[in-house]
Amino acid sequence: MSLPLEPAPEDLAAAMAAATARVGALFRGLGERPVDGTGDGSPPPVPAPAEAGRPLGDVLEDLFEAVIPRAYATSAPGFFGYVPGGPLPIGCLAAFVGAAANRFTGVEVAAPGPVALEARAIRWLVEEVVGLPPEARGVLTSGGSTSNFLAVVAARERHLGDDLRAARAYVSAEAHASVDKALRLAGLPPAALRRIPTDAGYRLDPDALAAAIAEDRAAGRRPFLVVATAGTVNTGAVDPLGALADLARGEGLWLHVDAAYGGFFRLVPGRRPVLAGIERADSVTLDPHKGLFLPYGAGALLLRDAAPLQAACSAEAAYAPEPRAADFTALSIELTRPWRGLHLWLPLAVHGVRAFREALGERAAWARGAAEALAGEPGVEVAHPPELSLFAFRQRLPGAAPPAEDAHNRALLERVNASGRVLLSGTTAGGRFWLRLCVLGLRTDAARVRECLDLIRGALAVGRDR
Ligand SMILES: *Cc1c(COP(=O)(O)O)cnc(C)c1O
Repeated sequence: MSLPLEPAPEDLAAAMAAATARVGALFRGLGERPVDGTGDGSPPPVPAPAEAGRPLGDVLEDLFEAVIPRAYATSAPGFFGYVPGGPLPIGCLAAFVGAAANRFTGVEVAAPGPVALEARAIRWLVEEVVGLPPEARGVLTSGGSTSNFLAVVAARERHLGDDLRAARAYVSAEAHASVDKALRLAGLPPAALRRIPTDAGYRLDPDALAAAIAEDRAAGRRPFLVVATAGTVNTGAVDPLGALADLARGEGLWLHVDAAYGGFFRLVPGRRPVLAGIERADSVTLDPHKGLFLPYGAGALLLRDAAPLQAACSAEAAYAPEPRAADFTALSIELTRPWRGLHLWLPLAVHGVRAFREALGERAAWARGAAEALAGEPGVEVAHPPELSLFAFRQRLPGAAPPAEDAHNRALLERVNASGRVLLSGTTAGGRFWLRLCVLGLRTDAARVRECLDLIRGALAVGRDR
C-alpha cells in the first residue's frame, strides 16, 4: 500500500530517519567517491510517476544509488571547479524546517513573524557584510543571476524610463554571463552592452571606462549603468571598486557590484581592504549558496535605494492585501516563495558569524599558499595572485604557438581531473586557456589542497617530459 499523503507521525518519523541515514552516508562518502560522477554523461533510467506509489526505501535506494551520484560532487572536499560551496548540514535542516512551516513570506500581512526574521537576516547582509547605510534594503533571491537581473531592472527604472534605444551599460570583459542575460531579459537591445577592456590583472580599467562614457555621451547615447565584479569567476579579479564608485557618482550612473562569489570575504578582516568601495555601490549581488555554504537557491540583492525596483515590481491585485513597504514581493518577480530568510538566519544563529569568518579566512589562505606553490613551479604562470580564494594558472611552453599551448593546458586539466580526487575547471581569459582553482568548499581542508597540488605537480611533470 502507498504511503498516505499525510503519514501517521510514526511513519513520518521513520521516513525522515531513512532519508537522514541516506544523507549521512552521502556526506560521509564525499571524500572518497570520485569527484566527477557523470560517467559518460548519459542520463540514468528514471521511472515515470506511476498510478501506485512505491515504498520510500526503494525510491530512496534508486535515488541515492543511481541518480544523485551521476553528477559532479560539488560538495566534495576535492571540488575546486567553478565556484564550490556547501551545503551546510544545518542549512539543509533550515530548508526542511522552512518547508515544513510553509509560511507565506511574499507579503508581511500574511507572516509578520517570518518576514521580520528574514528582514533581520537581510539587515545583517546590508550592514555587516557589505556596509551599506541602514536605509538600504534587500531581497533574497534564487541566486546571483536573478539578483543581477533585478539590479539591471532597478537601474533601468531609475535612469531610462520607457525609451531603451540609446541606453549603454558598461561591464568588464570578465563580467559573468548572467549580466549579459540580465540586460537582454530587461529589454535592452544588444548594443546597450559595452564591454570595457581590463588591465593586466583582469580588472575593469577605470580610464578605459571613462573614455567609453565620454565617447557615448558625445554620440548622444545614454549611459546608465556600470557593473563591477568583486571576484570574477575566471581569475578571481576584484575590479577597482573605489575608483569605479567615484566615476559612477561623477557621471550620475548606477553602480552595481556583482559580488556573488567574493562578497562574503568582507567578513574576513585581512580580505576587507580588497573589497573597499563595495559599500558605495547602488546595488550589490551576494550568493549565500557560495560564500556562506548554504544549499543551492540562496542569493541576495541589496539596494541603497529600493524605490526604483519597487516601482518596477509594483502590481495591484483586487484580492491581495494593502501593499506594505516590507513586502518581499515588492522587490521581486516572485509572490509565493521559499522562506529564504530562515535558510540564512538559522545557520548563522546556530554556528555564529565567527565560524563563517574563520572558514572563509582559511580558504583564502589555502588559495594563496597554493598559488605561491604553483608560481614556484618551472614554467607555470599564475594569472594574478588570489586576493580572495580563486586563481587561474597555466603551463607555458617556450616557443609554442598559442593554440598548441592552450591544447597542452587542456590536456593538463584532464590529467589532473582523471585522478578522481579533485576537480578543477578551465576558462578563457585574455583569449588564452587557463586552469582555475577555487577554494571555497565547505568540506575542503588543508590536506586536500596539498593533495591537489601534488596531483598538479605530477601532471606538470608529465607535460614537461613531452
Ligand atoms: C555564481 C555567479 C553568478 C551567478 O549566480 P547563480 O547563483 O549561479 O545564479 C553571477 N556572478 C558571479 C560573479 C558569480 O560568481
